[in-house]
Amino acid sequence: MLIECPECAHSVSDRASACPQCGFPIAEHVQQAAQREQEQQDLATRSVAGRTDCPKCEARGFVMASFENDQGETREGFTWCDRCGHSGRVALAKSSRGFWAVTDDQVDAFLAGEIGESDGATYIGDESPPPRYPDRAAEADAKRGQAD
Ligand SMILES: [Zn+2]
Ligand SMILES: [Zn+2]
Repeated sequence: MLIECPECAHSVSDRASACPQCGFPIAEHVQQAAQREQEQQDLATRSVAGRTDCPKCEARGFVMASFENDQGETREGFTWCDRCGHSGRVALAKSSRGFWAVTDDQVDAFLAGEIGESDGATYIGDESPPPRYPDRAAEADAKRGQAD
């Protein structure tokens, strides 16, 4: 495909590495434009798709950590996961780029395109991972639903 060189307006192949007339780096320019388009696509197609495992505690609701006790000894123990609020689950979001794990307090900012990969949003990949552990809360809800 022929495009116009952004520097000198000469017609140049989008596969050229540089403009033959002025030397403008065409390949780099084309690549950046494609990347910008992908980012815009990602922002425009964000939605919430359900729940998924918390990437920080891997659905346990707590994380293992080392701490010092009163005697100054290092001990292993657990601490509640603040990312998912101890629940082990966060929102599952998707976009043209793939799937994301998003903390509940950051969902609105994520959908609005205010955050990308940050403390509140983790890119998972092309496929939604199966839950690592059963979702006890959802199971209890389902059971209650059947009993009604
Ligand atoms: Zn040029
Ligand atoms: Zn967690």
